[in-house]
Amino acid sequence: MITRNLKEVQKMCGGSGLQEQYETLMIQGVSTDSRNVNAGQLFIPLVGENFNGHDFITMAIGKGAVASLWNHDEPKPDLDFPFIIVEDTVLALQQLARSYREELNTKVIGITGSNGKTSTKDILASILKTQYKTHKTLGNFNNYIGLPLTILSMDEDTEMAVLEMGMDNFGQIELLTSIAKPDAAVITNIGEAHLEGLKTKENIAKAKLEILKGLKPNDLFLYYGDDSLLKNEVEHISMNYQVMTYGTKDYNNYQPEIVFVNETGDSFFLREPSSPQFFLPMLGEHQVLNATAAIAVARYFGVSYENIEKGLLNVEKTGMRNELIKGNGFTILNDSYKSNPSSVLAALDTMYSMLGYSQKIVVLGDMLGIGDDEINMHKDIGLKINSDKIDYVFTFGDLAKYIAETAKLRFGKDQILSFDSKSDLIKKVKEIVKPDALVLVKASRPLAMEEVVEGLIN
Ligand code: ATP
Ligand code: MG
Repeated sequence: MITRNLKEVQKMCGGSGLQEQYETLMIQGVSTDSRNVNAGQLFIPLVGENFNGHDFITMAIGKGAVASLWNHDEPKPDLDFPFIIVEDTVLALQQLARSYREELNTKVIGITGSNGKTSTKDILASILKTQYKTHKTLGNFNNYIGLPLTILSMDEDTEMAVLEMGMDNFGQIELLTSIAKPDAAVITNIGEAHLEGLKTKENIAKAKLEILKGLKPNDLFLYYGDDSLLKNEVEHISMNYQVMTYGTKDYNNYQPEIVFVNETGDSFFLREPSSPQFFLPMLGEHQVLNATAAIAVARYFGVSYENIEKGLLNVEKTGMRNELIKGNGFTILNDSYKSNPSSVLAALDTMYSMLGYSQKIVVLGDMLGIGDDEINMHKDIGLKINSDKIDYVFTFGDLAKYIAETAKLRFGKDQILSFDSKSDLIKKVKEIVKPDALVLVKASRPLAMEEVVEGLIN
């Protein structure tokens, strides 16, 4: 984590007003949450929709904060305590992270894309860790607050940092890349995830390509080459980076060949003479693509194939993404973290590829935030579910009903049911589920489908 004296902190974040007697006090890390401040941290109060962090300064001090940033227009409390006055605490947090990153010799890898950022980040960090002191985004801290906090939580001697960059509109990746100044940029794919704000897939591609604005000449730019729209956008930009692609098509620089995919994970190799056969203990063919992206970056930074194999075997996953849970005599594939058309199709492919189950049940909730065409996108999923490989499709929510509507065209009537109540849904699954069945649970985050998972296990 960042350790600097307050005089340095004031300069790094562009603040003022620190009293001289406090200049040599050291901070050890930062926190924006007064409830979780650790002793020695700098408190950075943020102004949110419901709460104003400035109201919680006493709590932060009580928890051991050594100093606080302070918005210039908030009434300053009459406390004998080190304050650094700033125009805006969010901008100051970002500026502090930007300055800290500039001072470090760390190599930074920025990952953006509609799906697979967190997975690719986890796989890459696990590989890099075998050879370098590596830091990664914790959980999903990938936005204008989470990314600066991730940077400030890394130690000075960090050699590699793998940072996830999320967005839902223009300008956001540009901001994140200006703070992170990556040495390598990865775009995993362009999905339908943010159509609401950006309207077209071309716009989503353009917004993600903002990541390049933080690169220096000759830095690595790696992207998913199977995505023709992305490829087309890239080919229209003149660039002086080392551009590489990965994907299943022949023209890609890194091309995986799957040996087998089952419930323990994926086995694959790369189409190049020296590639060993890799094993990745993560579910689904799409994870092979994420692993291929990670391997490409790791090779660029000089990681040996031997270490790559080790890193893949030891990958630490972030929760609720394609988690296999055993409970009550059957298995649940918990993918209740997020949902959009491409990730639902990827999850269905995973279901089809998992063999040896007595029965397969798919529980799908609404896909949210996918734009004006949301009804048709739900209908389209219903048309694509393979009725030879899935026994029941249950939906939850107003939009997911449209999945059921079209799925009914090919499935028997009693194989497709729509629910408005989670307890009714849980009851029905428990009623029909056979021993050794496989149950997929997937929906967008706000539907909290992990409650269904809990209900099924208990
Ligand atoms: P978020 O935008 O929420 O941060 P993310 O981009 O970090 O998401 P992950 O958390 O890695 O993505 O995966 C989210 C969902 O996308 C999961 O349901 C996973 O199964 C699916 N997924 C992961 N990788 C891919 C891929 N390469 N192609 C399609 N779907 C994918
Ligand atoms: Mg993520």
